[in-house]
Amino acid sequence: MLLTVKDLIAAFKFSADKHRKQRRKGEKDVPYINHPAAVANLLAFTGGESDMVLLIASLLHDTIEDTNTTPIEIEERFGTEVLNVVLDVTDDMSLSKSVRKALQVEKAEELSARAKMIKIADKTCNILDMLETRFTWTRKQKIEYVNWSKAVVEHCRGINEQLDKEFDKAVKIAESVLIS
Ligand code: ZN
Repeated sequence: MLLTVKDLIAAFKFSADKHRKQRRKGEKDVPYINHPAAVANLLAFTGGESDMVLLIASLLHDTIEDTNTTPIEIEERFGTEVLNVVLDVTDDMSLSKSVRKALQVEKAEELSARAKMIKIADKTCNILDMLETRFTWTRKQKIEYVNWSKAVVEHCRGINEQLDKEFDKAVKIAESVLIS
């Protein structure tokens, strides 16, 4: 399936529709769509990526995990390649949170290059969001989140140097705020 800029726009609308009732975790009441938009933005601008499968999958990366979106819907509209990337970054929500977190670390190594880049961009955005909006999280929770993100990203590095650097920058900011 040849994906064009029209499919990219369709993916943005699809994701906005699917996430329309959700807000980001945190106390600033940010619409959920800001998050996949930020992840795609990071991949395209900081990462310099223009691969349509990657960018479309990044916009859709939380739809199966967090909304009623089915794999068939994504496959029919955006093709099997996009679906496979989205599935690669989708947690099995029938498992407990601690098991899901452990599996993300364990499975990261075997992910596709596209899925690894989305993981890095996702964790980068989440760390920066956490610092700005998670006022109810304790310092310990925040440090744990950063450490877990580092463990996942350790297995995803080496594909796009700019993305690796951007993640390291976010960690540095977080650690200077949290560990002082
Ligand atoms: Zn995400």
